[in-house]
Amino acid sequence: MIPFNKPYLTGKETQYIEEAVATGKISGNGIFTQKCQKFFEDNYGFKKALLTTSCTDALEMCAILANINEGDEVIVPSYTFVSSALPFVRQNATIVFADSYEDNPNIDADKIESLITPKTKAIVIVHYAGIACEMERILEIAAQHNLIVIEDAAQAVDSYYTFKDGTKKALGSIGHLGAFSFHETKNIISGEGGMLTINDDKYIHRAEIIWEKGTNRSQFFRGEINKYGWVDTGSSFLPSEIISAFLWAQLENLENIQQKRLEIWNKYYEGLKDNPNFSLPIIPNYATNNAHMFYLVFKNIDDRTTIIKKLKENGILAVFHYLSLHKSDFYNEKHDGRILPNSDHFEDCLLRLPLFYELTADEQFEIIDKISLTINE
Ligand SMILES: *Cc1c(COP(=O)(O)O)cnc(C)c1O
Repeated sequence: MIPFNKPYLTGKETQYIEEAVATGKISGNGIFTQKCQKFFEDNYGFKKALLTTSCTDALEMCAILANINEGDEVIVPSYTFVSSALPFVRQNATIVFADSYEDNPNIDADKIESLITPKTKAIVIVHYAGIACEMERILEIAAQHNLIVIEDAAQAVDSYYTFKDGTKKALGSIGHLGAFSFHETKNIISGEGGMLTINDDKYIHRAEIIWEKGTNRSQFFRGEINKYGWVDTGSSFLPSEIISAFLWAQLENLENIQQKRLEIWNKYYEGLKDNPNFSLPIIPNYATNNAHMFYLVFKNIDDRTTIIKKLKENGILAVFHYLSLHKSDFYNEKHDGRILPNSDHFEDCLLRLPLFYELTADEQFEIIDKISLTINE
């Protein structure tokens, strides 16, 4: 059986966990947490990185930092994971769902402006499959309407956007705030885990407080104040050192992991291109590919169902992805009724293929072969 995903351990995860245990401090914000945060700040240009227990948590911090309240509207793509919208719903905002491009699951930047009202406070964009959204256009619109830009960069570690003037910036470093995931299905993992990135200085101080249960303990740790107390809202958003130690082992191998994933991705692309039955991921000129995901987009749901079934009969697990959030049980009655055809198209027609570090060349050959054969039957 070829699974859809298999978490890859680089080898030193348990050693670093033992080291963390040996230090006698296994709660949050210790040596490994700080090493991971510094790695991200130094390598990707985030002004501040704070590890969290999940990307969902990082997005909850975004919703609090953006001061989202009842009566506010937040624009979120419909073709995404629940967590892109949920934290804003918890702050009682109204979600205004946006559609994808016709040929790319990312938010259609040209359609955002028509969704803005005087109540709009923030735009959440999702870099689907780690491929950048049209950030320059999105930043322009946000600046014009004074909106906060939050990047759901859950899938976008080690991926970049290039501006028209040639400036290249890491995803998660472009909006006011960004959120990453280290869930076991992502490129870099810690089981469950995430990170908030802050690129606007004005949010940094408050973010540290929200991260530490509404207290100014981070400042106390640094010796900036001589006692700490309750100063704001917040929660326990920081991970234990055990999680951070695991993550550090992954970060030490980031280049190797990324290179391997990219090899697999390219092999799929070469093996499956020019097939009239489906289309392949599109990588715009402004975006890089971090090989988070390889997907096919079929013409209709029946073709996709046939392929899923045939692959399964051959011991290969390929899976579809999101159900449009605007039609979800939880939100459809609150949705304003607009039809979002492109999101619905990807809901019906997109299929993700197995992509993980230990996928062998033989296994990959078999997957490509079965997909090509099935179609030609
Ligand atoms: C994985 C994912 C999340 C959630 O990440 P967690 O770390 O599991 O909370 C959110 N948004 C997107 C786009 C994701 O792919």
